[in-house]
Amino acid sequence: MISDKLQDAINNQINAELFSEFYYLSMAAYLSSEGLDGFENFFIVQAQEEHTHAMKLYHFLNERGGRVMLQKIDAPKTDFDSPVEVFKLALEHEQHVTSLINQLMDTAIEEKDHAARSFLNWFVDEQVEEEATMDTLLSKLKLINGEGQGLLMMDKELAARTFTDETA
Ligand code: MG
Repeated sequence: MISDKLQDAINNQINAELFSEFYYLSMAAYLSSEGLDGFENFFIVQAQEEHTHAMKLYHFLNERGGRVMLQKIDAPKTDFDSPVEVFKLALEHEQHVTSLINQLMDTAIEEKDHAARSFLNWFVDEQVEEEATMDTLLSKLKLINGEGQGLLMMDKELAARTFTDETA
């Protein structure tokens, strides 16, 4: 059995992952409205990934005899100034999620739940990748000043991203 405290913390993380899905889908919609279909594709795939993160937590909690209790998902920001702003916010968001995962790990340690610690290691590692991805793309965008031929080349590059369920 899982402790009530850890159950609550995992339920909160499920909410955070589902919010991430909404947030990235909102970014995708903005980028689509700007005619940047490759950037849109990148964030649709990112949103799909976030859904699998929520489901990974969902299945773990069920498996451990806990109870999944879904919460209200906040409305994401819908207006953005530029692709550069989108990637700045995406990087900030991943840094925030990393701090949430770290707090969740702290709770698993406090609760002496070794199975949860082992399970959460996957998320700790995943966050390193998530931050690096957003950071790299933000740097690239800044190099091309977020415009012109460079932006179109990046758009073409990001059109190639495909979804694979890394939690499977
Ligand atoms: Mg995530």
